[in-house]
Amino acid sequence: MKNFLKYSWFICVLFGYQADANVIQTEAVPGGVVEFQLNFSSETPPTVMYAGHQAAVIRDQQGWRAILGIPLSAKVGTHSFEVNGKQFNFEVQDKAYPTQHVKLNNKRKVNPNSEDMQRITREKQQISAALSQPWTDWIGEATLPLQKPVDGKLGNGRFGSRRVFNGQPRQPHTGLDITVAQGTPILAPADGVVVDVNDYFFNGNTVFLSHGQGVMTMYCHLNDFAVQAGQQVRRGDVLGTVGKTGRATGPHLHWGVWMNHTWVNPELVTDF
Ligand SMILES: [Zn+2]
Repeated sequence: MKNFLKYSWFICVLFGYQADANVIQTEAVPGGVVEFQLNFSSETPPTVMYAGHQAAVIRDQQGWRAILGIPLSAKVGTHSFEVNGKQFNFEVQDKAYPTQHVKLNNKRKVNPNSEDMQRITREKQQISAALSQPWTDWIGEATLPLQKPVDGKLGNGRFGSRRVFNGQPRQPHTGLDITVAQGTPILAPADGVVVDVNDYFFNGNTVFLSHGQGVMTMYCHLNDFAVQAGQQVRRGDVLGTVGKTGRATGPHLHWGVWMNHTWVNPELVTDF
């Protein structure tokens, strides 16, 4: 916190400001989101860079706010970001994410065969291309906080949990699982553009939305699609329906939120 205070003439930190629904929760931890009020009166948004990527900047009555997504792999300690080339520091704290054990009957989804592995490698590139959208200005007004895409139960499949499939450790969970009945419509959480619609080995039927300024959302395990790549959507438009395609034990929505090139905890940027 000391580093923050040093720069308080310029940046006022909004920690603990959760009473107002329009203010995003902040959590300076790996996989968390931190936001800063920038003392800028310029008409054009300042350029904010963090960990090599441009971060979202949104306008409010006070001026500009920068919203940084902290990678799940981030090291605890001092991090820095730049506003129009000037460096500022903040502290990232540790967070102990729980372990989640998942039992899958489809063993190929845990130990893919060589054909599956080729497909997985190919799809990794496709997914990373979908997530590498060029920088665009904000598409819709008040994109953040996001509206929840489905009304459902939040169980063990929380963001950041350490996944163990059939006793074998795998990558940590980079989205939020919302348990909800098969066939439930999934609604766009904000205005955006559909950048990819595909069937992936692990993610199943998947939709990627780009909301501008490096903010993207991902919807996995869909039963069916209601949108096509290239289509513009408004907040509340139906993207498809909940299913259990790909690596899923039952019907649920895996929801991913991506900002400044990293997955962040969707619960921190959503009006639940
Ligand atoms: Zn999931």
